[in-house]
Amino acid sequence: MNEHNDETTKETGGSDIATDGGTDRDVVELPDQVELPRMLDFYELQTEETTQISEFYDNLADGQLTTTRCTECDELHFPPRIVCPECHSDELEYVDLPHEGELFAFSTVRAGAPMGMEDEVPFVLGIVDLGPVKLSAHLDDAEYDDLEIGDPVEMKVVEIDGPVDHERVFYRFEPQE
Ligand SMILES: [Zn+2]
Repeated sequence: MNEHNDETTKETGGSDIATDGGTDRDVVELPDQVELPRMLDFYELQTEETTQISEFYDNLADGQLTTTRCTECDELHFPPRIVCPECHSDELEYVDLPHEGELFAFSTVRAGAPMGMEDEVPFVLGIVDLGPVKLSAHLDDAEYDDLEIGDPVEMKVVEIDGPVDHERVFYRFEPQE
């Protein structure tokens, strides 16, 4: 049985190589530098025309971390929502979040970073407990070995330099002095 299968494979394989190997193939060239594809861009577009949570980014650009709260059931969400996941109301308001919190968990990213962040590895990624919500964030100026769970951290706003024609911002955290 095995012998028969081996023979079949050999015959088929040999035949394929003979057929394809003798033909000229088209050449596909890749550019030396590949621009960041829009769909793989980690940061979403932030204008009113491109996202329904543009107010979050407007507030962040002004230095304020905010999120949505449902005025119907009082549920606080993070990330900000356009419809309350608890009661499905769209009566939401933006409220301020604290800019200081505690490190709830952390790890180091050594490989597999999102496109555009490859040059930053290794970097520390943490879950920050702000009290009302927990969120994951890039930790700047932080060495894994120097950190402990419970360490105080504070929010900072960074500008995103990228392939879109409008200003973009995002939040990161860093250890408090
Ligand atoms: Zn609700």
